[in-house]
Amino acid sequence: MWGIIATWRMALEGVSESAPQLAAGSAASTAVVDAVAAVEDFPFYKSVGYGGLPTENGEVELDAAFMDGDTLAFGAVGNLIDIANPVRVAQALSRQRYNSLLVGQGAREWALEQGFSDKAMLTERAMQHYRKRCRETLDKGLSPYDGHDTVGIIGLDKQGSMSVATSTSGLFMKKRGRIGDSPIMGSGFYCDSETGAATATGVGEDLMKGCTSYEIVRRMAGGMTPQQAADSVVFELEDKLMSRFGRVGDLSVVCMNRHGEFGAATNIKTFTFVVATEKQPLTVYLAERHREQTCYQPVDEAWMQAYAARIRAPIEE
Ligand code: ASP
Repeated sequence: MWGIIATWRMALEGVSESAPQLAAGSAASTAVVDAVAAVEDFPFYKSVGYGGLPTENGEVELDAAFMDGDTLAFGAVGNLIDIANPVRVAQALSRQRYNSLLVGQGAREWALEQGFSDKAMLTERAMQHYRKRCRETLDKGLSPYDGHDTVGIIGLDKQGSMSVATSTSGLFMKKRGRIGDSPIMGSGFYCDSETGAATATGVGEDLMKGCTSYEIVRRMAGGMTPQQAADSVVFELEDKLMSRFGRVGDLSVVCMNRHGEFGAATNIKTFTFVVATEKQPLTVYLAERHREQTCYQPVDEAWMQAYAARIRAPIEE
């Protein structure tokens, strides 16, 4: 059995390339890292890698992670500035015995020492979004934190190995130095080849309150299906935060078990994910909550076209 599942439509191109490789016997680790790197490289995806949206200071600070479900080894970077593919730095860190999670200047220095390329990651288009948001926030009192999304990709290969990788520019207009769930093991991602893996996207500050990805994997290990684990974790966390914290942000997750069965859950209106397995042809799903359950259906051609137009639309400043 092989399988791959990813958060958001933006993962489609990367997953389309990695799925046939998994079918041909490639390693899950290579499949997920290559697929995430493809998202990082695409300038029109404004919440990941090159073209990602900046902090309130107008700098792009990137977070990424990689976890190998066979060894439980992980590597992660936070607030990485101007390095081409944060996910590849994270994977390289996972091979080190120590210093698995590096942030800021230290992460950048290590990446450069290892030969990773220096690349200016702030694009003119991201700056246009930034200027527009600064103005709207002043004029209309909009939340500067809207407009994020993390790519998280889980792979299962024919050898039974699983891996997960994440990458994000984090919340738009975040404080310099802010880190969300995406590079934090157990919250933004977790992977154990003996059980399965999960990865999250949404408001990192809230996802971390539930150690969301670890909790999903733990529930799968306890016998839940991936869908039961995903729904129960998302909706229980939502209820808990509403009653004890008084509010809750966006929470969306995808997961897969070691048999290639998958699940997805969300507390928002439109969460998309991409999946392909030996049994399931490559599909982009649109997930919606129905009370305490998530339902999903494939997106149609009109949706795909509207998406393609939206991500390239000129930004009216
Ligand atoms: N979880 C990410 C963060 O808080 C953002 C997102 O996935 O939308 O950094």
